[in-house]
Amino acid sequence: MHKETDFFIDGSWVKPNSNRTLSVINPSTEESICQVTLGDESDLNRAVEAAKNAQPEWAVTSKEERLALLESLLSIYKSKMGEMAQVISDEMGAPISLAQSAQAGAGFAHLRQTIKTLEGFSFATEVPKKEGVDHIFHESLGVVGLITPWNWPMNQVMLKVAPALAAGCSVVLKPSEVAPLSAMLLAEMIEEANFPNGVFNLINGDGTGVGSWLTQHPDVAAISFTGSTRAGRLIMKSASEHVKPLCLELGGKGANIIFADADEKAISRGVRQCFLNSGQSCNAPTRMLVEESLYESAIEQAQEMAKKTLVGFAHEEGRHIGPVVSEIQFQKIQVLIARGIEQGARLVSGGVGRPEGFEKGFFVKPTVFADVTPDMDIFKEEIFGPVLSIIPFKDQAHAVELANDTPYGLTNYIQTGDPDRARELARKLRSGMVEVNGALLSPASPFGGVGLSGVGREGGVWGLEEFLYPKAVSGI
Ligand code: NAD
Repeated sequence: MHKETDFFIDGSWVKPNSNRTLSVINPSTEESICQVTLGDESDLNRAVEAAKNAQPEWAVTSKEERLALLESLLSIYKSKMGEMAQVISDEMGAPISLAQSAQAGAGFAHLRQTIKTLEGFSFATEVPKKEGVDHIFHESLGVVGLITPWNWPMNQVMLKVAPALAAGCSVVLKPSEVAPLSAMLLAEMIEEANFPNGVFNLINGDGTGVGSWLTQHPDVAAISFTGSTRAGRLIMKSASEHVKPLCLELGGKGANIIFADADEKAISRGVRQCFLNSGQSCNAPTRMLVEESLYESAIEQAQEMAKKTLVGFAHEEGRHIGPVVSEIQFQKIQVLIARGIEQGARLVSGGVGRPEGFEKGFFVKPTVFADVTPDMDIFKEEIFGPVLSIIPFKDQAHAVELANDTPYGLTNYIQTGDPDRARELARKLRSGMVEVNGALLSPASPFGGVGLSGVGREGGVWGLEEFLYPKAVSGI
């Protein structure tokens, strides 16, 4: 059995050169679970070299060989879903029921979807001559660097690792240093599935160290990053030196537009979606825009929902929300709630401080603000906590203006009983995704945003193509 301080490089668990460590903190108890190593540049170089050596043979494996390995990984993952859920719950505070149903489940769903996509994907296509194109080959990009956040850790890791491997890329993964243990469990599964040595490598580290060395490394052909817009900007700058292709999945500030003809559960669904995972989702509908005639009733319903939202320990089963991930996130959320009050929003539920009964742990009160206006920080900034802002709108044009009044553009939501209106409005919203009347997007659809929410897409065939480049060949 390897130690948590080890890295997975070239098919085995190895002792890092670096002796800098970091505690992984359980957010419910504020106690340390274990120490992981923050790699140094020589550790990173070793991981990239292993990936580079493995790349030529891996790139020419057949689709069938890669499918067999991914299927083996899928069955190992399925048999260890309970363990995966437990690890995620401990490292980032998702209540165990949510960790089982959604957090670990998302990793499974993305791996299964990648397998389906790969089965149907053709790496060599012949486009009809009348379009003036000859052969198109889809070639793997080479060694890719994958950098992921802590909020949906296995969701984000699998959205990158599975399609990268399916595309014939070799991988260096740097998971979030805040929640690295689920990725380490995945590395054990990849080892058990017998992927060739060096095809998948995992190294822990922080953003300014391993994260930025990985981004700048000349042998890393492309970077796929999920995380904050702040880090996304830095990555874009440092990747420019080698003109690396980037997939950047960044922050969001989703609007949920609720018309008076929406179904009766629209408000409660919107509050629940905003508070899900303690508000720590890039696609959370944090700005609830409500048609004026429904506004006061919406506030009452949201207040009731917030009061009914239980807060509890991550290890307890149930539908409560858990703590937020860290002291830093806790403090950031407190500052933004206080600023909402100072800037004149109407506090309807929650507020600053821990919920009653909690003296320890990064627990935040489920908070609802009404009368929020576009000049307030809580309208503009990604809070990443269980904080909902409610804003009235006059008509459809006003709703579009408010929804698009953000530099982000990840997911917006529409609730209406009028399908024609939903279709028309969906086209006017500036975002990579729109969810209508609570219908979830399929894992086969492209996931990603515009503006400060990033570039590139994950999921389905789009997610696979992020790791390939098209090559046109004439005369054959
Ligand atoms: P973060 O940007 O602080 O860290 C994310 C990852 O990037 C970590 O592994 C970190 O070590 C690394 N990193 C940080 N600085 C870096 C640098 N300069 N160079 C290279 N790597 C660097 O984000 P976080 O706090 O872990 O995650 C929360 C953020 O992620 C939120 O803004 C959220 O909206 C976003 N997110 C986006 C999506 C999406 O698909 N759009 C999904 C989940 C989370």
